Amino acid sequence: MYRQPDTVASRLEAIRSLIPEGVQLVAVSKFHPVSAIKEAYDAGQRRFGESRVQELCEKIPQLPRDIEWHFIGHLQTNKVKQLVGKTSLIESVDSTRLLKMIDEESRKKDIVAKILLQVHVAAEETKFGFTPSELIDFFSSKAYESLSNTHISGLMAMASNTDDEDRIKKDFRKVAELFNKIKTSISPELRDFDTLSMGMSGDWPLAVAEGADMVRIGSAIFGERVY
Ligand SMILES: *Cc1c(COP(=O)(O)O)cnc(C)c1O
Repeated sequence: MYRQPDTVASRLEAIRSLIPEGVQLVAVSKFHPVSAIKEAYDAGQRRFGESRVQELCEKIPQLPRDIEWHFIGHLQTNKVKQLVGKTSLIESVDSTRLLKMIDEESRKKDIVAKILLQVHVAAEETKFGFTPSELIDFFSSKAYESLSNTHISGLMAMASNTDDEDRIKKDFRKVAELFNKIKTSISPELRDFDTLSMGMSGDWPLAVAEGADMVRIGSAIFGERVY
């Protein structure tokens, strides 16, 4: 009988063995303690995702410095100052206002912030992000040319929260098509626009099949979150 592996290290190992080469794994550690992150770190994981600024800021000084932190939650504009400079990638930029504030703060700190733009394709109204047509307008108008200290590295998305695999596949496919369109025809001059972050514990194989090259997996590594 197959038994579910039951440590962070063994779950991480199991997932790593399934993820194709070239797909980056973000271990989503939000709501999990520093001790769990340490376990994953000791098993070789270096890339972690957090969704709240305060939680991230508390965890950073307690953990090794070579961790790459990804911010994946909704970022409130009043937290931009606190966050900028602490991440290797902000995956969840969901408005042009936020983008401008990140750019401004990065300029003040004399750094370049790497970010992804979040796309909204899911059924739920509660999810954040640009609609595909807003992004087409954004790239067509070359709005990114006014950014001096922000590098747009790609797109991030979540699929609808449903058991309907067809719907999930359609959501991912829509984002992948948008990503390829921006990359090859709308803004081919953009350098290093190469990251498509899609897929979580329950749906990442579908995301990878549609072209994701970054997956964000939390509960399948760390167990259920206690909020
Ligand atoms: C929490 C979260 C994840 C991870 O979800 P799991 O189902 O635990 O794998 C991935 N992406 C985003 C944006 C999240 O907020």
